[in-house]
Amino acid sequence: MSEKKKRLAWRCNSLQQQRDKAEIYNSKEWKQLREAKLQKQPMCEMCLEEGRKRGIKRGYVRSATCVHHIVPIETATTKEEMWRLAIGCGLSGLMSLCRPCHNKLHNNAGYHTKEAVQERKQSAFERWKAKQHRQQPPTDSDGST
Ligand SMILES: [Zn+2]
Ligand SMILES: [Zn+2]
Repeated sequence: MSEKKKRLAWRCNSLQQQRDKAEIYNSKEWKQLREAKLQKQPMCEMCLEEGRKRGIKRGYVRSATCVHHIVPIETATTKEEMWRLAIGCGLSGLMSLCRPCHNKLHNNAGYHTKEAVQERKQSAFERWKAKQHRQQPPTDSDGST
């Protein structure tokens, strides 16, 4: 089967996608990443944001029980891409959320539109690029003499 046909077949087979998704969520890699995220940010990031906006500091923020992917892994077109979106996104591609906020986010009609997803993909990529840049060792400036 050609690469293109393989992609198409995977995309059209939602049962296979469900299985691959389940495989990811049951994997050691995902569990570790999820744990690390909750350890780094044990409070709901949307509650925190909401509290900041309203100037409320205490008593409002719930603890996070869900770890949410900023770029939905369902947008992958291959199994490999799904793994990359799910695990390769790293901590900055995830959000710690409480269940009510998580539901609210996913029930927002605008959240899953192509444009909204594309925008989040873009900003995730920008963040990733910025990080790569920061991690680069200082270059030897004068190599040409
Ligand atoms: Zn919340
Ligand atoms: Zn989510």
